[in-house]
Amino acid sequence: MSRHFVSLLAIAAVAVTLTPSAANAAPARKEVDCTQVKCLALTFDDGPGQYAGKLLDTLKKYDAKATFFLEGQYVKSRPAFAKRMAAEGHELGNHSYKHPNFTQLEPGAIRNEIKKTQDIIKQTAGVEPKLLRPPYGMADLQVSDIAAEFGMPMILWTGGSRDWESRNETSIKKQTLAVAKQDGIILMHDWVKQTVDSMPALIKTLQGKGYHLVTVSEVIKSQNLQPGDIFPVPEGWEK
Ligand SMILES: [Zn+2]
Repeated sequence: MSRHFVSLLAIAAVAVTLTPSAANAAPARKEVDCTQVKCLALTFDDGPGQYAGKLLDTLKKYDAKATFFLEGQYVKSRPAFAKRMAAEGHELGNHSYKHPNFTQLEPGAIRNEIKKTQDIIKQTAGVEPKLLRPPYGMADLQVSDIAAEFGMPMILWTGGSRDWESRNETSIKKQTLAVAKQDGIILMHDWVKQTVDSMPALIKTLQGKGYHLVTVSEVIKSQNLQPGDIFPVPEGWEK
């Protein structure tokens, strides 16, 4: 299913303030300083997906960190993967409970989606997500206000692997390498088998190009994002 094909439509204004970052780093390892080295954040949405175990093995083998924007419903059905992601130093983000378009929900329903997911991730993996990725990357001022209530900035992506569309290893590698850039945030999915199968070669190539594969919190640290902020700021989103 194509879950990220809708481009983000900004509806209202959001204030950007420049004060110290509220985002936390992943646990269990020394933080990488992305002002000193070339960083890239791989992000995997909608999981934990059925191929997460193989992906985690690959990430461990290459000493790469990733960020998983999880759906609460799958944390519930695949708790061992969520637990392992946190234990192995990856970042866990909130991607709602059942993947509705937040811009079409009432405030109470949005809060419920976020809260239930925060709760099950904390209960299952022992960590509290600091970042929200709204389903389909769809947000507006109301979503921003509610993200702020939860103390979370909203994280989109600078480039996509288009993995859900191609379902082809060669295309996934080619597209990812085409959009990879310093401090980039790449959108991928651990429910796409070809993505997980392409990871050993892709990670080797990226590391060969000098990239440190790190968490989103590490990549965005210098952005000093505040709760409710959106990054990268999409076209049409007024400040
Ligand atoms: Zn998604």
